Amino acid sequence: MSRVLVIGCGGVASVAIRKCCQVDDVFTELCIASRTKSKCDALAESLKGKTKTVITTAQVDADKVDEVVDLINSYKPDLVMNIALPYQDLTIMDACLICGVNYMDTANYEPEDTDDPEWREIYEKRCKEKGFSAYFDYSWQWAYKEKFEKAGLTALLGCGFDPGVTQAYCAYAKKHEFDTIDTIDILDCNGGDHGYAFATNFNPEVNLREVSAPGSYIENGKWVEIPAMSIKREYDFDAVGMKDMYLLHHEELESLAVNIPEVKRIRFFMTFGQSYLTHMKCLENVGMLSTTPIEFEGHEIVPIKFLKALLPDPASLGPRTHGKTNIGCIFTGKKDGKDKTYYIYNVCDHQECYKEVESQAISYTTGVPAMCGALMLLTGKWTEKGVHTVEEFDPDPFLDALDKHGLPRSENFDPVLVD
Ligand code: NDP
Repeated sequence: MSRVLVIGCGGVASVAIRKCCQVDDVFTELCIASRTKSKCDALAESLKGKTKTVITTAQVDADKVDEVVDLINSYKPDLVMNIALPYQDLTIMDACLICGVNYMDTANYEPEDTDDPEWREIYEKRCKEKGFSAYFDYSWQWAYKEKFEKAGLTALLGCGFDPGVTQAYCAYAKKHEFDTIDTIDILDCNGGDHGYAFATNFNPEVNLREVSAPGSYIENGKWVEIPAMSIKREYDFDAVGMKDMYLLHHEELESLAVNIPEVKRIRFFMTFGQSYLTHMKCLENVGMLSTTPIEFEGHEIVPIKFLKALLPDPASLGPRTHGKTNIGCIFTGKKDGKDKTYYIYNVCDHQECYKEVESQAISYTTGVPAMCGALMLLTGKWTEKGVHTVEEFDPDPFLDALDKHGLPRSENFDPVLVD
């Protein structure tokens, strides 16, 4: 029996909400709140008669702490699931602290306005100190650790697939397969085809910011930064086949380096087709990925927001995306004094996802872990207070829940390694 407030009603939230409604003995009451209430109403309407979960909807601008506080105080949830955008992480965390409610999200904080001088000063200091230049990092949310601990509350950060399940895979490898882990390679492969020359599988603004940024990895405790897309490998993925993949910066590298400090090298690779990369480079070269507002015929426009309005809505890709995703982690290390390699991954089929929840696999592979993370908090499987990433919790009940709710694991004890 629990009351949950979900903030956001986009591609990922829609899947998480549909999955929560499949577990209606735990998610007994759900409030779907977002900036555009009509989307929440449409989703609630489509779930009528299909679940015992009692669904209500609300309008909220989650950039405003007061609005979130009012909503929490009136709904009185046991947990707030932030599945809006990373820009809202801090305002929603603030509201949860004020109201004394547990918090979770699927992506770590980054500011919407990267030109804000106050933020920029802190960012530039961090770039110099830490050695990576991504706009997002955990420092902003880790700064809330003590406040959540003192309030006796839990904040679960980044509980999608990557970040999220990938860190649970690391915790699982550490708990069951290795005495010491030497290297971790996280491989994110999307073998899906939506038939468009160019579209992003989740929020275009967040996605394009991420992939156009310099790549980085951790070696012997230090960040190594490289130009965007400058390290390329080929890998033959189970159920997908041979794909080009590129080394990217990714948020879980930062927390894994802290929580599994013995690891000598951690890298993250994502597959991209040539068409995607050519379009992205062109858009970047002409300034369409910029977040800095420009004057156009008397209007102020933000180029990347304008681009978002032109691109297909990721939520509309579901019916037309065919193929599979394969996301997982390859480990090297030692067990009982012997060298060992291990690969744990999930394969997910775009069309199967669409049949089940009317969404493609990218939103599915994020929304299902969000539901399973909420399930861990609501059923008392994960109880540590403070601000935590997924690898800090017991991976076993979480991976069991993923097996059961649509993202089963596969294992390979003799994987091909990435050079
Ligand atoms: P969408 O753009 O599809 O949805 C975002 C939702 O948030 C929309 O409903 C939007 O409302 C709402 N929203 C935006 N701003 C506000 C605001 N100020 N107040 C209230 N609601 C707001 O994004 P996705 O569903 O693709 O992504 C959701 C999150 O999941 C993102 O943080 C993304 O980074 C993360 N993600 C994580 C992954 C992982 O594996 N960990 C993978 C993929 C995504 P409106 O309808 O008005 O625009």
